[in-house]
Amino acid sequence: MNEKNYKNVISKIEPDSIAEELGIEMDDILLSINGKEIMDILDYLFLISDDYLEVEIEKKDGEIWVLEIDKDYDEDLGIEFDNPILDKAKYCKNKCIFCFVDQLPKKMRKTLYFKDDDSRLSFLQGNFVTLTNLTDEDIDRIIEYNISPINVSIHTTNPGLRARMLGNRNAGNVLERIKKLTENRILINGQIVLCPNVNDGKELDNTIEDLNSVYPNLHSLAIVPVGVTKFRENLYSMEIFDKEKASKVIEQIHRWQGVLKERIGTSFVFLSDEFYIMAQKALPKYDDYEGFPQIENGVGLIRKLEYEFNEHLKSIPADIEFNKTISVITGFSAQKLYKRFGRKIDKKSGET
Ligand code: SF4
Repeated sequence: MNEKNYKNVISKIEPDSIAEELGIEMDDILLSINGKEIMDILDYLFLISDDYLEVEIEKKDGEIWVLEIDKDYDEDLGIEFDNPILDKAKYCKNKCIFCFVDQLPKKMRKTLYFKDDDSRLSFLQGNFVTLTNLTDEDIDRIIEYNISPINVSIHTTNPGLRARMLGNRNAGNVLERIKKLTENRILINGQIVLCPNVNDGKELDNTIEDLNSVYPNLHSLAIVPVGVTKFRENLYSMEIFDKEKASKVIEQIHRWQGVLKERIGTSFVFLSDEFYIMAQKALPKYDDYEGFPQIENGVGLIRKLEYEFNEHLKSIPADIEFNKTISVITGFSAQKLYKRFGRKIDKKSGET
């Protein structure tokens, strides 16, 4: 592991926690647990899952405290850090042909241009990672510390194609890495950014077939369409999905869902809502999303929101007085949905 870049500065103490009881305060620095230096959040989570701890703290005045703690093995200390991963975030070493960061307008907030690719952020915040900047030791550490689930951007299992799509000649071994992780009980949610005439069609069939063999520890696979902005300059000449192309993808995936339900009892592969919007086709039914395993990826977001909206609307008493004007700011794709909501609210208030 690299040399330590940051001090583990404590930024928050939970009320009634072990930390509060022992007098640990904001701006104290965590130096070690059971004699081991904390290199990152994985070390911290691993080391505190013990029932006896010797915690070394540097107080604000420079005094060093060593605290002995007896606790349940799964009990938290109740501290948060100013840097949630306790280390410098790993940046991505790819140059993807579809990179969304490369397509941002200029002169925006600096942090928007940071390309992270860090399995610790995947575990903590759900970020998708490509597994391309991990050493074999990093993979072993994920397994040893049982860092699970991890969200992986797979795109294709064809080694040569993946290397080209990610602009990284070391990107081809993704299936091998996924197998190693899943065989060691790490759960993975997979993602494919689908690019017309790149990783779709037969390539997509092959990828789904390969990944389905890693079910159930590769739990689900989301397919999202490539996004292209008007700020794309001097980049790969990317085609975009239109109504016809999106309809073809829907047919292909619905075919796969039928096959996989028979074979493994789940649809396994799900399309993001944009495909149905582009194809102007009805979204799958609520139950077809099988508990919405990839909702943060925009898979089933509209269906779930609409379902919840309808349930709330039903629960509003018929005699409620409703005479407000509501404005909603939304993206282009969701505008029809919000118009539908508006009509339903108008109808309900017309009933009173
Ligand atoms: S992994 Fe690819 S898409 Fe993600 S930030 Fe890096 S280059 Fe961009």
